[in-house]
Amino acid sequence: MPITFIKILRSKKRRRTVSAHVVKDVLIVRAPESIAESRLEKVITELKTKIERKQLKEELNKDESLRQRAKEFNQQYFGNQLNINSIEYVTDQISKFGCCNFRTGCIRISHRISFMPQWVRDYVIIHELAHLAVPDHSKAFWEVVSRYKFAERARGYLIAAGTQDILYNKL
Ligand SMILES: [Zn+2]
Repeated sequence: MPITFIKILRSKKRRRTVSAHVVKDVLIVRAPESIAESRLEKVITELKTKIERKQLKEELNKDESLRQRAKEFNQQYFGNQLNINSIEYVTDQISKFGCCNFRTGCIRISHRISFMPQWVRDYVIIHELAHLAVPDHSKAFWEVVSRYKFAERARGYLIAAGTQDILYNKL
């Protein structure tokens, strides 16, 4: 449920810290009575963003769709040879669309991808999966990735979507 209201409770007892929690769509903020309005506004914005990112992350990962997709692609493109430890959406990865830890087998996909068309999402999953086989962006890597028929198109889409991540540009 998105946060719609903010309720501020000022307290004389509170010295410094501002805390917040959510009840339904209300963000309840507890703040020291003496805090400056501008400071409080800034802290609330930060807390709200943090809570909303956490909520979105939970929402995006609550079903098995990403893991299921990765499993299918492992079968279809990699002969089930990949060791996928985990794959999840994250909300703290803004400039990179995907990230793969070759050593641990953990894949993190930016929440931005979840709002993109399925064929773009699939490309990002395949791109990151391919890094479990080939860590760098060598010719061998792009050969693997290009087995996905929308690879080139998806790369164009992502560049247009404004990535700062050069990893998605062809080396
Ligand atoms: Zn890459």
